Amino acid sequence: MGKKELGRILTVLNNKYKIKIERMKPFYILVHGILSTRTKDETTFPAQYRLLKIANTPRKLSKLDTSVVKKLIYPVSFYKTKAKLLKKTANMLLDDFNGKVPSSKEKLLKLPGVGPKVASLVQVWGFGVAAIPVDTHVNRISQRLGIVPKGNKPEDTQIVLESILKPSQRMIANHVLVTFGKDICRPTAPQCYRCQIYQYCKFERKGYYKNRVL
Ligand code: SF4
Repeated sequence: MGKKELGRILTVLNNKYKIKIERMKPFYILVHGILSTRTKDETTFPAQYRLLKIANTPRKLSKLDTSVVKKLIYPVSFYKTKAKLLKKTANMLLDDFNGKVPSSKEKLLKLPGVGPKVASLVQVWGFGVAAIPVDTHVNRISQRLGIVPKGNKPEDTQIVLESILKPSQRMIANHVLVTFGKDICRPTAPQCYRCQIYQYCKFERKGYYKNRVL
């Protein structure tokens, strides 16, 4: 798929969802990213709120006992592990980064619990860097559209998407595709019958789902 085609797809979807990126505190995005891994938004956001209400800086978080962090973030998935990672991350921010969340991907990836997706989330929402966080929605849709081959790893999909899209498109790509993935191009039973980018899609079962109105 070429630049123009993918650009058109993003334009169509963004006309529908009207995504705007509003900068937030990098530390908040970092906490959100770590908590959100394999956890639904409806669980992540309340847990994030409870934790940040008490510890909204790396220093405050570093002073909390791990058992308290566990209680605050429960029931996010892997909450015991994530509580330890959050504490380690807070300590590393204090020890190695002067208490501030770094903006470079290279440095972000040094933080415990931070992989390519979380690092890119922090870059986009915290610093306005034109990166594309690739989660399960973005990766699945990229494969169905034929932008990347089936079974592609998220980090490889990110490289392909970032090489195709211009910076302004990169900024919104994650949010647009995640919204589309929850709304229409769902993991199981995609709603192809009401898909506005049907014509661009290479998914081999799109015809089947087009005729299957749920
Ligand atoms: S046609 Fe179906 S599979 Fe293809 S992008 Fe649209 S919803 Fe997803």
